[in-house]
Amino acid sequence: MPEQITTVQAACPECDALIAFERPPLNGQVVRCTDCSVELEVTSINPIRLEVAPEVEEDWGE
Ligand SMILES: [Zn+2]
Repeated sequence: MPEQITTVQAACPECDALIAFERPPLNGQVVRCTDCSVELEVTSINPIRLEVAPEVEEDWGE
């Protein structure tokens, strides 16, 4: 039996592009949308949900 390749996909909440994972992502994993380059955090893995990760700006204020 050939090895089964499971492609996991989820839609980008920003631009609706489909993001394919080579393997099921981990909860909390951060991925980058290939289309709009936004950073997305995996907030749920079954089903997969992506949310835009908060922008981390290197602005320490003080
Ligand atoms: Zn996107």
